[in-house]
Amino acid sequence: MTVSRAANRVLVLNSGSSSVKYQLLDMADASRLAVGLVERIGEETSRLKHTPLTGGGAEARVFEGPIADHKAALEAVAAELAKDGLGLDSPELAAIGHRVVHGGTKFTQPTVVDAEVLAELEQLVPLAPLHNPANVTGIEVARAIRPDLPQVAVFDTAFHATMPEAAYRYAIDRETADALSIRRYGFHGTSHAYVARETAKLLGKAPEETNVIVLHLGNGASASAVRGGVCVDTSMGLTPLEGLVMGTRSGDLDPAVIFHLARVGGKSVDEIDALLNKKSGLIGLCGDNDMREILRRRDEGDASAALAFDVYIHRLKKYIGAYTAVLGRIDAVAFTAGVGENSTPVREAAIAGLEELGLALDGERNAVRGDEPRLISADYARVAVAVVPTDEELEIATQAYALVTG
Ligand code: AMP
Repeated sequence: MTVSRAANRVLVLNSGSSSVKYQLLDMADASRLAVGLVERIGEETSRLKHTPLTGGGAEARVFEGPIADHKAALEAVAAELAKDGLGLDSPELAAIGHRVVHGGTKFTQPTVVDAEVLAELEQLVPLAPLHNPANVTGIEVARAIRPDLPQVAVFDTAFHATMPEAAYRYAIDRETADALSIRRYGFHGTSHAYVARETAKLLGKAPEETNVIVLHLGNGASASAVRGGVCVDTSMGLTPLEGLVMGTRSGDLDPAVIFHLARVGGKSVDEIDALLNKKSGLIGLCGDNDMREILRRRDEGDASAALAFDVYIHRLKKYIGAYTAVLGRIDAVAFTAGVGENSTPVREAAIAGLEELGLALDGERNAVRGDEPRLISADYARVAVAVVPTDEELEIATQAYALVTG
């Protein structure tokens, strides 16, 4: 399905189980025309916040009241967009880009969704039971509203599909692993792809010639090793639970902890799942998952907050070292997402003591806040350290637009 280049808007939808985040972008200049969020879908207290960004004003409009389901949510979004002359019936809309968390091994590229693809996405639900069903619902609802328009699925796992088997295969019985599709997939792929490319741009180098360690540190967190624009390893695995210490997820642990929790702790599989995904990481260590709050408490002498910070940084350093070894030579370490973009102390602690790896920060540069990609390394450092704000919506829109305009 190819669309005319005169149609240059893309609506990006990120559909969660009870929320829909959206952005309408104009691909002529990559600008935002509107952004918004529908929350608590299915409850009495649903909320739609819509911010038009055209015409100079950025006054948000808020609707509060019941929004029964995702269909009603998207219809409400369409009605808000129409008020600004940006309705979904516009011929200027080229595509709707959908964030889909898990593409399995099948979907390694952005894909126009038809009935067959939808059926295949349904089959991937066991790999991402919390995310994919909502992503699929979002696509179905958008298709019902504009059946003539390309619905493009952009997968969180896709950028990591280039990992060599040595990186993606777990050292467990091969038959069992293959029968159950157990392997490393990796997530946050649109962010890692975008940030690796923007980092090369910042260095004035071609992505094909640039080796980058990307540290996506948000509430979820993951690291990736990118060689010449191609992902060769990443810290999240079969699910987003593996790797770095996160807001509420444990990241790496001895798998036998799970047997111990079951046999000695008497916990069920669902209880262990909830413990490791929702009650571990920073929140498990100190009761807070917001890095700002943890730093405030640490600075006031709170020992559990200080420990949570130390565990978080220790793990981060291990991955920087490991991925330096995987890549052999690195041009840059790039920090992104909520913590990575904003937390001067996290960046300072993560890079401290890594001079032998060619890494050193400039304290003043690291302290500067900003929305633009920037270098924070010391002039004498062999390897650049960068802060690169991520833009997953722009990346999804760019990939979707490129696909439909051929
Ligand atoms: P994200 O998932 O990318 O939206 O990131 C969310 C996380 O970013 C939250 O856990 C916040 O603690 C963190 N964050 C946002 N602003 C700051 C800041 N100024 N300093 C430290 N952490 C921050």
